[in-house]
Amino acid sequence: MRVAVLNSDRCHPKKCSQECIRYCPRVRSGDETIVMDEKTGKPVISEELCVGCGICVHKCPFNAIHIENLADELEKDMVHRFGENAFRLFRLPVPKKGKVVGILGQNGIGKTTAINILSGHLKPNLGRWDSPPDDVAEYWKGTEMYDYISELFAGNIKVAFKSQYVDKLATVDRTVSDFVDNEAIKKFEMEGIADRKLGEVSGGDLQKVAIVAAMAKDADIYFFDEPSSYLDINYRVKMAKEIRSLAEEDKMVIVVEHDLAVLDFLADSIHLIYGKKGVYGIVTQPKSVRHGINLYLSG
Ligand code: SF4
Ligand code: SF4
Repeated sequence: MRVAVLNSDRCHPKKCSQECIRYCPRVRSGDETIVMDEKTGKPVISEELCVGCGICVHKCPFNAIHIENLADELEKDMVHRFGENAFRLFRLPVPKKGKVVGILGQNGIGKTTAINILSGHLKPNLGRWDSPPDDVAEYWKGTEMYDYISELFAGNIKVAFKSQYVDKLATVDRTVSDFVDNEAIKKFEMEGIADRKLGEVSGGDLQKVAIVAAMAKDADIYFFDEPSSYLDINYRVKMAKEIRSLAEEDKMVIVVEHDLAVLDFLADSIHLIYGKKGVYGIVTQPKSVRHGINLYLSG
């Protein structure tokens, strides 16, 4: 399926003659393939009506539109779409008890969307952004994801989440020892900063605090989004061993990580996410760690 996709940042409707709308053959024949959105003041292209002819791409003076080829077979696998012509994610990584599942992919390809869904922070709309379904678990009936999704959105799965944005912790008016117990302070060699405010410690120390705080929770599933950022190699190894120990306690663990060496050590399997940055992301079936990393490196 070929559809036109708008890059909103490049679109300047007040500086053009709205050529995309004026020259679209579908609009000329009377339908609403491209309409101006009253709220944003920018055009919205209907995926259902657009035939991907590419005329708008050539007519737009700001190169704000391009044509995207969407694989037809993935139409049925759409897990979430943020809106008309907005980012969409196909399929989800599968959490496993007693295993560390890694997620690998470039920025803007849906890694955070995937873990936001799996952690219950974002309810998937299965592509129906304008009329989201109530019972999303039905969609996974008969698959290994069904139990997980139905229990998650029934509130029966306890989640611990280490965010990618550890620097936000610096705004919290608390000390390191408010979040980290004595045992972890020794293990991560944080004795010298235990009494310092979070706003007074380094990014690496904030990362350690965030990891330890997430690990200290009594949860069924643990998410670590970029746990090795800001850490030197010694602490990366230490952190990886600690995260692995959660899986040894039969917990589910999901890790988004860009350091391939850390991921190689840490994960039992990997889901790659590929696609087009900011447009769509497709989650692969789980792969062995080495195979997944090699596939990622080969593009
Ligand atoms: S997409 Fe191009 S032609 Fe259409 S409104 Fe935006 S800038 Fe103008
Ligand atoms: S690709 Fe063709 S049909 Fe689709 S919006 Fe552009 S001009 Fe219209």
